[in-house]
Amino acid sequence: MLIDFHTHKTYSDNTTFVRSFMIDQTPDENRFFTIGLHPWQVADFNLDKALKIIENFCTHDNCIAIGEIGLDKTRKFFDLQYKAFIAQVLLAEKLNKPVVIHAVRSYNEILSLRKKYTKTLWAIHGFIGNKQTAFQLIDKNIYLSFGKALLNPSPKLQQAFKAVPYDKIFLETDVWKGHIEQIYAAAENMINYDFESQITLNFAKFANLENA
Ligand SMILES: [Zn+2]
Repeated sequence: MLIDFHTHKTYSDNTTFVRSFMIDQTPDENRFFTIGLHPWQVADFNLDKALKIIENFCTHDNCIAIGEIGLDKTRKFFDLQYKAFIAQVLLAEKLNKPVVIHAVRSYNEILSLRKKYTKTLWAIHGFIGNKQTAFQLIDKNIYLSFGKALLNPSPKLQQAFKAVPYDKIFLETDVWKGHIEQIYAAAENMINYDFESQITLNFAKFANLENA
C-alpha cells in the first residue's frame, strides 16, 4: 500500500493519503488529514481562533498531525509567521501531536527552534535541500518528505536523497496533480529499495498508529 504523506487532493483508489487542509477549509474526517495555520495565511486569520479550530479537529483520530505550519522567507509577515509557528508547536506539544512543516529558506530557524521544542515528532514536507541540511535536520529527529522534485532531481537533491537514512523518509505529491506511485517509482529508480514497506513503518511511527 502506497502512502502519500502530504497532498491537497483525494484519491479514489486504495492509496493511503494524508490530506493537508488550510485553516479555512473543513476537513474530511473519514480520511487521514492535517490542519494548521499556513505561513501564507498568518495575516488573514486570527491566531487564537485558528488555535481553537485546530484543537477541535485534533481530537479526531484521523487528524494525524498539526500542519502544514511553518516559516517562508519568500513571503511577508515573517514575525507573524514566527509567532504562529511557535503557538502551533506549543499546541502540538500540549496535544501530543506531530507537526508537518512548510519551510522555505528557513531551515536555520527551524533547527534552532527544534533545540527548544522537542516533545513531538516533526516532518519537513517538500524537502529540496542539500545533504548537509538533510543531516542537520535528521540529527534533530526531523523527518524529510520528498515530492515531485524527485521526478527530475538536481544533482544536489539526488545526493541528499541517496544519503539520508530510510527510516526518516516520506514521499508526497503536495499540490502536484500526478499519482504518488510515480514518485515511488522515481525514488526506487534512484535507489533499489523497498520504499513502500519502509514508509509504511515510518508512517505508523510518525502518526502513532502502532498501538491503534
Ligand atoms: Zn502542501
